[in-house]
Amino acid sequence: MIPYGRQEITERDINSVVEILSSDFLTQGPVIPKFEHAVKGYCGASYALAVNSATSALHIACLALGLKEGDLLWTSPNTFVASANCALYCGAEVDFVDICPSTYNLSVEQLEEKLERASAMGRLPKILVTVHFAGQSCQMNEVRAIADSYGVKIIEDASHAIGGSFLSSKVGSCDYSDVTIFSFHPVKIITTGEGGMLLTNSKDVADRAELYRTHGITRQIDRLESNDGPWFYEQHCLGFNYRLTDIQGALGLSQLERLDEIVTRRHEIAGIYNQELADLPLTLPHQNPSQYSAYHLFVILVDPERRLQIFEKLREQDIGVNVHYIPVHTQPYFANLGFLREDFPEAMKYYRSTISIPMFPTLTEGDQGRVIEALVRELK
Ligand SMILES: *Cc1c(COP(=O)(O)O)cnc(C)c1O
Repeated sequence: MIPYGRQEITERDINSVVEILSSDFLTQGPVIPKFEHAVKGYCGASYALAVNSATSALHIACLALGLKEGDLLWTSPNTFVASANCALYCGAEVDFVDICPSTYNLSVEQLEEKLERASAMGRLPKILVTVHFAGQSCQMNEVRAIADSYGVKIIEDASHAIGGSFLSSKVGSCDYSDVTIFSFHPVKIITTGEGGMLLTNSKDVADRAELYRTHGITRQIDRLESNDGPWFYEQHCLGFNYRLTDIQGALGLSQLERLDEIVTRRHEIAGIYNQELADLPLTLPHQNPSQYSAYHLFVILVDPERRLQIFEKLREQDIGVNVHYIPVHTQPYFANLGFLREDFPEAMKYYRSTISIPMFPTLTEGDQGRVIEALVRELK
């Protein structure tokens, strides 16, 4: 089966992991600060914290930004459930902003209208989680301006988008947000097995997120309330164990060196799809010219009446197509919170037509040719 996404592991990646296995520290060693330093340097952010998943990064980002019971968080319905669940972990409520029909990202117009209504009703969100769907950044300058005028904080869920940029900023710079988070799951752009990272330009947010990452415990002398001696530590809040291991960090650090190469290769694959599928009755992913995508996914839209059949035909030929995403608000758990399927009609319309076709750096020319031929056969 040609999967829709897959990690690329080189000999160097393997050697860097093996080296850690025979070193003094498997976790809490020197590799994690190195990995954090390299990612924040690449992105141009001031602070970076490695964690054991993007889900954990979203959770502690919300806590560090002060999200609590009675608060509200908004995100896009066209995302993985984690972008919304982070609100519920904090005891806050969640709502969604419908998507733009061309980029499949949260719609700036809908955001503006919904904030105006929410403001009139006195029920503004504390946090907006913007999701850079498929690796394409949201229109962050506009999102930031609108959110700022209502005092709404922004988390960029950039799980798909490390290596991409918006205007002259790398995704992760936090030039237009309070926090950015990345995922290093194997289907994403670079991997640590499981893993994630939180970036911010606020020392305060970074300090609080760091506490939440490790049980709420600090050993930093300037932060201690008292000090009985060199063994001393204090717990200041209810935190978690969300640490990344040095084994994983070594893999991430090694992968990061190839990030630009990986994203370039993803653009090559996209270029071939765009050329070879141009004459078929399907919609290719529109690219907003103010951004450079990391191309986590390549999604096509087909006739909704034929989507299931096309999907099944491709799977029969061992082509691992997938669907991103089932709108979060339609999940039974969210339906139980009161959301109706047609609450976000653009996300539903998109969902009924979409298919993700294989997109990963080691996709061979031959395998990509097979995907293209199969689509031509089904759609011509
Ligand atoms: C993958 C993903 C996550 C969760 O990432 P994990 O590292 O698996 O926790 C969150 N948001 C989006 C948009 C994702 O694609």
